Amino acid sequence: MNCCRRYHRLIFHVEAVLFGACRLFVEYCDFKREKIPGSSGSLCGCLYPDGYRGKDRIVLVNTGRIRGHQLSTEERRTTAAHEAGHYVLHCGNKESAQLFFRFTKGPTFCRKAECEEELFSPMEYQASVFAACLLMPRKQFVSEWKNFLGSAAKVAESFCVSESFVRFRAKRLGCE
Ligand SMILES: [Zn+2]
Repeated sequence: MNCCRRYHRLIFHVEAVLFGACRLFVEYCDFKREKIPGSSGSLCGCLYPDGYRGKDRIVLVNTGRIRGHQLSTEERRTTAAHEAGHYVLHCGNKESAQLFFRFTKGPTFCRKAECEEELFSPMEYQASVFAACLLMPRKQFVSEWKNFLGSAAKVAESFCVSESFVRFRAKRLGCE
């Protein structure tokens, strides 16, 4: 019972939030089958800030096989939130924080939604931090981390994200 209450409190529909906050549509499709331009079959998500196929500003999340695996529900949520990060932080629009001198023009294609800073570009890292903050707000995260005595598996269940993404957030909040 307690577990169910927690579930409803911390997990939200990422699609509804992105639409409400930025008017961003989120759609799920097999990139290979849909022949997404720029897709080499290993993309997890992409952002079309200027619209695609009749829809204004849209995020697409790959449901097809990527190097032999399909994204889990948790990874799909993270991918949608990561693409929204690119929209909010890197595209020329009124919501943008303009972290760079030049905004990104045109679509963005991503191979990974969880990016460690030392391994990837600053923009990819920023989009991942945005996704982590959106899906695991600081206050709730710290509280869950304490409740579950730092169990990444349990905290991951609470927020419907992967364990590695929980560790990513924990590291940046100094919880480890
Ligand atoms: Zn990205």
